[in-house]
Amino acid sequence: MAKYVGAHVSASGGVQNAPLNASKIGAKAFALFLKNQRQWKAKPYDEKTIEAFRENLRKADIAPDYVLPHDSYLINLAHPEIDAHKKSLDAFIDEMKRAEQLGLKLLNFHPGSHLSKISEEEGLKRVAESINQALTETKGITAVIENTAGQGTNLGYRFEHLATIIEHVDDKTRVGVCLDTCHTFVAGYDLRTKETCDQTFSHFDQIVGFKFLSGMHLNDSKPDLGAKLDRHESLGKGKLGWEVFRYIMNDSRFDDIPMVLETVDSNFWPEEIKELYDLVDT
Ligand SMILES: [Zn+2]
Ligand SMILES: [Zn+2]
Repeated sequence: MAKYVGAHVSASGGVQNAPLNASKIGAKAFALFLKNQRQWKAKPYDEKTIEAFRENLRKADIAPDYVLPHDSYLINLAHPEIDAHKKSLDAFIDEMKRAEQLGLKLLNFHPGSHLSKISEEEGLKRVAESINQALTETKGITAVIENTAGQGTNLGYRFEHLATIIEHVDDKTRVGVCLDTCHTFVAGYDLRTKETCDQTFSHFDQIVGFKFLSGMHLNDSKPDLGAKLDRHESLGKGKLGWEVFRYIMNDSRFDDIPMVLETVDSNFWPEEIKELYDLVDT
């Protein structure tokens, strides 16, 4: 089995609970928040938490390669103001260090917002410089940039944005991207048929390159193509439909990376994971 599918599971009660929550829903991969995602600061992990996390990961039979932690929504690495940017960068580095402590390999984040105070290009460079800084202060963690819906002044809604950030990152071995199917679609890239999937993903390959693909977020979309609104829907219940998921599950370019549901109703996750594996042609 070359496909690793799971969901963004709860870490409530401590990060050590996340692998068990993943295991319960039949996941072979998962995402989690490394701390309360609505707060700037959290106390460092103690040894017991770190050991319990690693132990539970073994129990869940999930390799660290298939865990895709997501950083706090407060962090804005493109922030145009010096003090606010520093606050974000410090928090980002703290998250990278947490991932490192847990023995993980990846940290997924949204590029950030220019807040209409600097150009997109300047914003993207700020993100790249922030990544460079974070990579020098940590070991073994890859910075995984997520493509976005393009809501408000958020960067990262065009494949060119991801490419520009990567271009300015010094260590190309420790930068990657995560494509969110909902974000891709609402940003204006069609994924509703085999033909449009071919087009969109070959365009992605030309602009960014599949070698940088480090994870996927598998979500259907409430808004329509190009709406630039970030609203996820359960699989098959939104504007995307099933075809894109059949496509991904049968295409080896999506092998061996964590693919994570962030769909709206967690009650469906066990079923959605099973349905995804059932799409694999035998
Ligand atoms: Zn996502
Ligand atoms: Zn989203």
